[in-house]
Amino acid sequence: MDIETLYRHFLQSSGVCTDTRHIQENCIFFALAGENFNGNLFAQEALDTGARMVVVDQEEFHKNTGETFLVNNTLLALQELAQYHRMQLKTKIIALTGSNGKTTTKELINAVLSQKFQTVATKGNLNNHIGVPLTLLSIPVDTEFGIVEMGANHLGEIEMLSNITQPDFGYITNFGKAHLEGFGSLEGVIKGKSELYVFLQQQNKIAFVNANDPKQLESSKENKRVTFGTPESDFNIDLLDSHSNLLLNYRGLNIQSNLVGAYNFMNLSAAIAIGAYFGVSPEKIKEGIESYIPTNNRSQLIKQDTNTILMDAYNANPSSMMAALKNFRQAEGNNKILFLGDMFELGSDALAEHQNIVDFLSENIFGKVLLVGENFFKTKVEASHIKKFRTFDDLKNEIQTHTPSFSFILIKASRGMALERILEVL
Ligand code: ATP
Ligand code: MG
Repeated sequence: MDIETLYRHFLQSSGVCTDTRHIQENCIFFALAGENFNGNLFAQEALDTGARMVVVDQEEFHKNTGETFLVNNTLLALQELAQYHRMQLKTKIIALTGSNGKTTTKELINAVLSQKFQTVATKGNLNNHIGVPLTLLSIPVDTEFGIVEMGANHLGEIEMLSNITQPDFGYITNFGKAHLEGFGSLEGVIKGKSELYVFLQQQNKIAFVNANDPKQLESSKENKRVTFGTPESDFNIDLLDSHSNLLLNYRGLNIQSNLVGAYNFMNLSAAIAIGAYFGVSPEKIKEGIESYIPTNNRSQLIKQDTNTILMDAYNANPSSMMAALKNFRQAEGNNKILFLGDMFELGSDALAEHQNIVDFLSENIFGKVLLVGENFFKTKVEASHIKKFRTFDDLKNEIQTHTPSFSFILIKASRGMALERILEVL
């Protein structure tokens, strides 16, 4: 493939598209292959509905009526084009990875940096081998900062995404028990996420490091780094109140966030430290942080008639589940009720990790517990304040017969459980 020719087309296009249901006039359509579809089949439709050109990887689809570019592999072509574009940009790129809190931290960093700079950040959760290239290709040349979320569920992925993204700065939110199926173990997770540290070190670029986390300090010890999170580090932020929305203090200025959960303190601290490092004033940092409101059932506080609900049904894995439980335990509120659903992608550790949660809740009694899902249903439950249900409908029946009131409720589970549905029954 001649990348320069493709890039010339890209510069004259309105951008890249991959879905014929959302064709933008004058875009370049990449015929990607999915599990259940072959993008090549949609090439003609893309041209007919406004694409200026299509990139395909099957000879037989080379004969469209319209500009067609044949490559060996459309995904690799997309990644190569993204990397080529990135190399032309003067934009400073900050790459983020980690087990939990990437999107929240990315949004917070963007909220802070956009107070002073032209920024582009990953849209939503587009953080994989396709999302990262699409994010890079959406960065206009006059952009000063790009904030790119990189996700991974197996070794080598962050290395590959780093090579495409060529970040100038990096941040790893944490190492946790997420995607154990692909990484094998926590050691695997640490190695996999640390591929970002390795890249930054090889390129002599800077890592932002949460000095409050010994594993991050250890893994980044060879790196050029900027630290935050402890009084001795480069930037120090204080937590004043964590009972509901976190209240912080930075250089004498109180900052009222819209985020609950003690674990969000590090996400907020990272954004404040990164903003301060790039010269955003404390007043503007405050404005940025206070403007950010979480979406999509991520740690949101919902007040109903008599109940207060801490909705965290966006996702769950053993680390984020434990962080949420510990946070809920110390949170102030009466009649605590926990609705917890299965955690996915744990492979052979699934039963042990669910049992671990049940055991923690048996020993630490701070509320009535209702568990739902095939995994939780398999655990051994002996405590009388814990009940388990196999399906959502079973749980729904229970809620309808014993509807909670005047309660403080935590809802947390993996995305696939869609536990936000509980709101409809409460
Ligand atoms: P994904 O893997 O889906 O991209 P993510 O890493 O982008 O997830 P977020 O979307 O920011 O993470 O947050 C998802 C959930 O993770 C939150 O609702 C919260 O429960 C939990 N979480 C967020 N930050 C932390 C943290 N620092 N430590 C532990 N858990 C966290
Ligand atoms: Mg995310």
